[in-house]
Amino acid sequence: MENILVVGGAGYIGSHVVKMLAQQGYQPIVFDNLSKGHLAAVKGYPFEKGDLGDKTHLSKIFQKYSIKAVMHFAAFIEVEESIEDPSKYYHNNVSRVLNLLDAMVENNIPYFVFSSTAATFGNFKQEKIDETHLQLPINPYGNSKLMVEKILQDFDKAYGLKSMVLRYFNASGADDSGQIGESHTPETHLIPRILQTAAGKLPSIKIFGTDYPTPDGTCIRDYIHVNDLASAHILALEKLVQTHQSDQFNLGSGIGYSVAQLIKVAKEITGIDFKVEITPRRKGDPAVLVADSTKARDSLNWAPKYNLDRILETAWNWEKNRKY
Ligand code: UDP
Repeated sequence: MENILVVGGAGYIGSHVVKMLAQQGYQPIVFDNLSKGHLAAVKGYPFEKGDLGDKTHLSKIFQKYSIKAVMHFAAFIEVEESIEDPSKYYHNNVSRVLNLLDAMVENNIPYFVFSSTAATFGNFKQEKIDETHLQLPINPYGNSKLMVEKILQDFDKAYGLKSMVLRYFNASGADDSGQIGESHTPETHLIPRILQTAAGKLPSIKIFGTDYPTPDGTCIRDYIHVNDLASAHILALEKLVQTHQSDQFNLGSGIGYSVAQLIKVAKEITGIDFKVEITPRRKGDPAVLVADSTKARDSLNWAPKYNLDRILETAWNWEKNRKY
């Protein structure tokens, strides 16, 4: 069985990837500092609590488990916070990753799968964003992820470290089992906030801006189920091992939904008519982000399985029976 180090494996996307890796015959080793992650999300898997700043610890882990590849999920992800505190983002999302990459090179770990983001593209110039789209981030979060993408290109050329960059659009939903799901504190993401409003845990859902250049004036995003992201990680890893070629993929459903549309579907699925408020725009939000994932579909043979209804159903199931 091949050992895969999942950095940030106790977090939202990481924990779903850990579960799927195990289901597909890999041995995930979870590495997390638990600053955001949840131990309950990775019960039963080998777990190492640690900090990416500690290279000695990383080297020990690489040797102890004979790691085949590293997947990285340990990032700060809030756009607005990144504008208010960019230093926090550059330290965690760039500097610590650089440390991890150095440790990988020193220990001859050949493969890296990196969580990047649609936020590296900034404002869209085409209807759908494929991998050739210009990358001009409009906030420090996007900058931090793009910096690592560049570092990875240079590390490939100089040290032969091979990587897959996966740019997620809006990760959403929860595992069908109801055992793992999204749990951020504070929760800033739209779908969990809508469902927490439906559950009576929040007084209302606020729509951040109705003056965007979109049909209903609210922002459009491409919501992709977390298990569809997880399957893309495993396919990307297998492709990387097979071809030994670094590559990048945009991961989304290819369908955009506005904030207002999402609220409407959530009201239907929950059967609850919760309160909606309109507020000014949030800082740093582009109007539209929709993926063109043709490359991932063709080259990785990837096919997302969950539509928006299933995303909301699984997220609602999780919200009603949260384990952490
Ligand atoms: N949004 C909103 N109300 C909320 C949270 C988010 O209107 O309480 C909007 C936000 O402005 C963006 C979209 O929903 O246009 C998705 O935001 P989220 O934070 O979920 O993901 P992001 O696109 O920032 O990664």
